[in-house]
Amino acid sequence: MRAKLLSVAVISILSVAVTNTTLQAQYYFGRNKIQYDKFDWKIMRTTHFDVYFYPQMRELAEVGAALAEEAYARLESKLNHNVTRRIPLILYSSHSHFQQTNTVSGMIPEGVGGFFEFIKGRVVLPSNGSIHGFKHVINHELVHVFTRSKMNRVLKDHRKTTYPGMPLWFTEGIAEYWSVGWDSQADMIIKDAILSGHLVPLTNMEYIFGSFLMYKEGQAICRYISDTFGEEKLLQLIENIWKEPRFSDVMKLTIGLNYKEFDEKWIYDLKKKYYPLLEKNDAPHMVTKAITKKGINTKPAAFTKGGREWVAFVSNRVGYSNIYVKPLGGRSTKDQTKVVVKGERTSEFESFHLLRSKIDVDNRGRLIFTSKSGDSDVLYIYD
Ligand SMILES: [Zn+2]
Repeated sequence: MRAKLLSVAVISILSVAVTNTTLQAQYYFGRNKIQYDKFDWKIMRTTHFDVYFYPQMRELAEVGAALAEEAYARLESKLNHNVTRRIPLILYSSHSHFQQTNTVSGMIPEGVGGFFEFIKGRVVLPSNGSIHGFKHVINHELVHVFTRSKMNRVLKDHRKTTYPGMPLWFTEGIAEYWSVGWDSQADMIIKDAILSGHLVPLTNMEYIFGSFLMYKEGQAICRYISDTFGEEKLLQLIENIWKEPRFSDVMKLTIGLNYKEFDEKWIYDLKKKYYPLLEKNDAPHMVTKAITKKGINTKPAAFTKGGREWVAFVSNRVGYSNIYVKPLGGRSTKDQTKVVVKGERTSEFESFHLLRSKIDVDNRGRLIFTSKSGDSDVLYIYD
């Protein structure tokens, strides 16, 4: 029987809470933010939100407003807290509209699914075409709004001006855990991290600061705390924030474990859970042969042409993403990889969405792919 492979994938950052400075830091040198569209902004007022939208997306904005109110009610009871100011919620109907936002000056990378901007307290996010995804991002960002507001209330109540603050792994982890709970994507990432040995302990979390893995590890940590010590402990971590100078000590006070002690238990628990999978399955890198070595290579599409087998794929091996083809098998040791389409240099092929969508080759040998082109996505059939 052939061994099953454990699924592995690299996924882009779903959503980050950013301040102006962090977005500035992500600015891509040499690129300008282009304003393709002029938005005729309207405001829809709900009980707790001022929802900003433009007329073409009214129906979607109504859905977003309803999801936001639903999330507000859920979080209000979960955190035993209300946000006393009205929350500006700025919605876009697509990611490419969202990337043109002037609520922050820096470029918005493709992987950012939405953000909560602390300075003006605005929540800014697009729909990506999936209501499930829209609901997730709205809930994720509103967890930021609530946890931040709750922390400020706690500090004010205890007249504290110096405090450790909530670390990013915690704010993002809780935003994920209190929006999607635990899902197959989180499970896949953590499973892979523990089985391939690249899980980063909480004590070293700064090594993966801001990465997608940090988000998922934060989510896994929140889940472990909730399952082991009770869900109320997550809220208590925020309520106890004023009592200790470091977050590790706040954890010690709340669940009886500091970072180091936590790691020991948490990582042991993950090993118990996932190691048995290796009995009947194999890690891909142990039973397969890598056919590409440089950069991140995604979206393979195998096809036959001229009696020979080929593979087309997207890779960022030269810094920019290109679509490449290379023959499979054969005796040549020379790298026969060829560029078919150059990406990220022209507005026509601005982005192949490296970690989303797919490419394919039909039986006539035509390459089919999507690319961001100007202010929208275009489906290309390349002969
Ligand atoms: Zn976030």
